[in-house]
Amino acid sequence: MSPESTSALKPPARPIAFAAPLLGEEEFAASDAVLRSGWIASGPNVIALENELSAYFGGRPTRVLTSETAALEVALQLLGIGAGDEVLIGAQTFFSSGNMVEKVGARAVFVDVDLKSRNIDLADATRRLTPRTKAIIPTHYAGLACDMDALYAFAKQHKLRVIEDAALAVGSSWRGKAIGSFGDIALFSFHPNKNITTIEGGALVCNDVADAKRVEVLRFHGISRLPDQTRDVDFPGGKFNLPDVNAAIGRAQLKKLDHFSAHRRKLAHRYLSNLREVLSDDLLPHAGHAGDEAGHSWNLFAIRLPLDRMTFTRPQVMDAMKVRQVATSVSYESPHLTSLFRKQGWKAGDLPNTELIADTTLTLPLHAGLTESDVDYVCAALTDVLKEGGLQ
Ligand SMILES: *Cc1c(COP(=O)(O)O)cnc(C)c1O
Repeated sequence: MSPESTSALKPPARPIAFAAPLLGEEEFAASDAVLRSGWIASGPNVIALENELSAYFGGRPTRVLTSETAALEVALQLLGIGAGDEVLIGAQTFFSSGNMVEKVGARAVFVDVDLKSRNIDLADATRRLTPRTKAIIPTHYAGLACDMDALYAFAKQHKLRVIEDAALAVGSSWRGKAIGSFGDIALFSFHPNKNITTIEGGALVCNDVADAKRVEVLRFHGISRLPDQTRDVDFPGGKFNLPDVNAAIGRAQLKKLDHFSAHRRKLAHRYLSNLREVLSDDLLPHAGHAGDEAGHSWNLFAIRLPLDRMTFTRPQVMDAMKVRQVATSVSYESPHLTSLFRKQGWKAGDLPNTELIADTTLTLPLHAGLTESDVDYVCAALTDVLKEGGLQ
């Protein structure tokens, strides 16, 4: 029997994407103007975007790059992290941080997460410290800020640098202060699935201007300019400068960020109230820190499936959602169980919470272009699929 025939759902007019950028006339006009200006590589729009982001981040020095992954590599280089060093990484994250730690020659030490918030578990981090540990890379999962007081107390106690992976936390805050406006180094992504986009792009926020100047060198071939108007290279730097077309799009997006975040929060709370009818609280995402719910920027809405009480596997759930015109995703696989890190000895059972989440999680559509009735439809489709999948 095909799933369509069992479904009383009225399908949406268009398939519901899992994530999508929301671009408008402002972005079209901005990119058009740059294309016509004759200066399309890094130029005045990059500088303007950096200044506008810096203002958003409380005046901290901010530099943009071609991706957050590039910013991760540059941040590790900035801190001089390499062979012989270890870096703690909150394991509920995308592959980039592990990859870049590996790429600079250091060792990625994955740390388990809290089952509900999915953010780094500092008790597990403590167990994984060694004299070689130099830095910690926590991810603000789904846009929910890590406990910043506990994180920075931990870093201070153990003399670690912090590189916040804030890819999912553009627009998030902790006790009213924007993520990126305080702390050590914070990195953001402007990939199309993130809360604002430059198509591809990312930002590095730091505390001192000398570090920001060094980032400019590291992101562009390691080149510095000499007084006699020739150039020198003192490090084999990458080529990570953001084009002005992208920066102009980012400037238009940044103006919309607060509006996007408020809309995402509204949609997320609609999901939560609808899904409380079908899923127990432990399977629903963390709703935001008590009294500080507005600090959650909701890049992702990721549930866990009660697969132990169903006949369907997750791929069957995803296929059945797709039949109902709803795209879903997995955010994320366990990074320590990739072929790359299995070769270093990581194995199933090392990070129980991360693995349980990876095995059961499902990311539902959430983006600024969705409506509350889209969310209602996704919830109805999921309810339908859970029933078809044998959930008692
Ligand atoms: C998207 C993402 C990245 C990578 O960002 P890019 O800009 O695509 O390089 C890194 N970490 C997390 C948690 C992400 O979601």
